[in-house]
Amino acid sequence: MKAYPVAPPWPGIKLELMEDTHFDPQLPAVELRRELGERMAAAAFNRYPDPSAPALKDMMRKTLGIDAKYEIILGSGSDEVITIISQSILAGGGAVVSLEPSFSVFKNAATAVAGRYVGVSLRADFTLDVDALLATIEREQPKLVWIVYPNNPTGNLYPDADIERVIKAAPGLVVIDEAYEAFAGRSWLARLDEFPNLVLMRTLSKIGLAGIRLGYAVGAPDWINEFNKVRGPFNVGVLQQIAAEVMLKHFDTLKHHARQMVEQRDRMFNALQKMPGVTPFPSAANFVLARFPDSAKVFDGLKARGILVRNLSALHPHMANTLRLSAGTPSEVEALLVALDGIL
Ligand SMILES: *Cc1c(COP(=O)(O)O)cnc(C)c1O
Repeated sequence: MKAYPVAPPWPGIKLELMEDTHFDPQLPAVELRRELGERMAAAAFNRYPDPSAPALKDMMRKTLGIDAKYEIILGSGSDEVITIISQSILAGGGAVVSLEPSFSVFKNAATAVAGRYVGVSLRADFTLDVDALLATIEREQPKLVWIVYPNNPTGNLYPDADIERVIKAAPGLVVIDEAYEAFAGRSWLARLDEFPNLVLMRTLSKIGLAGIRLGYAVGAPDWINEFNKVRGPFNVGVLQQIAAEVMLKHFDTLKHHARQMVEQRDRMFNALQKMPGVTPFPSAANFVLARFPDSAKVFDGLKARGILVRNLSALHPHMANTLRLSAGTPSEVEALLVALDGIL
């Protein structure tokens, strides 16, 4: 196995991990900082947190539109939710299917519990080869299928009709990872009760709160109750709960940042399209994947100019010479585009 690579702290412009850089920690409104400070200072540090997190879950239901008929499980980031679901479903073995290239955490989480991981390649243009996926499901009879919608690191959405066929064909659980839902404006939440084998996973990380570490899954109580059996009983700390609850009171601000990131994403896409030899891929998320004539040279050139992006060229054969660029603030994107012009 290979550990998920995390770059050391970067003092310059960091467009690497799809963080919300519109959120300047020095600048939140004074009243927000006071509220966070007061609520945290009053927290019961000496007590274990209430794992059912009623105040936070109430706030999540209100702001994120989660109906009372669904249950919610919280994790320290969706990374932990992936571990919990993998342990719950794959304990004792069994196959798990994911598309590739996609989020690499699925494979490690499966391997760690002796699940048999089977990757299905997207086409070279990153569209979904639904027949290949359906054939793999038929052959492997997976207990678990992961679908990232829109996909990371490619940014695209798959056709709803294809996903529907996959959910219906799957003999076990299908989890749709909607980490980028805020930017895509598309979700399976409203259709969750059409499919008894479907669970959704989301995160607050891409909408401004990556540092808090709060991810969640939503689904029928029958599924979530099973996941809860393998969850560490106090997995989300009291400070995480308070910070998320207070920040979700300011959901309008977070949504505003998301809209700004979408603007910057489209600006990057349009500019990249005009650069000689560069092919950006259409994205519904808060980043753009682009193919360059020589991605290593561009990556190094950006780094020398103080800009860190993600070089994913080695992730999959289809990813050769690609870089993933997070949508930053207007001035960060300006700096990125100027730097690219200089390098190319
Ligand atoms: C960023 C991302 C996540 C979020 O992980 P957290 O642990 O919640 O920060 C989950 N899934 C995908 C596909 C992602 O790109």
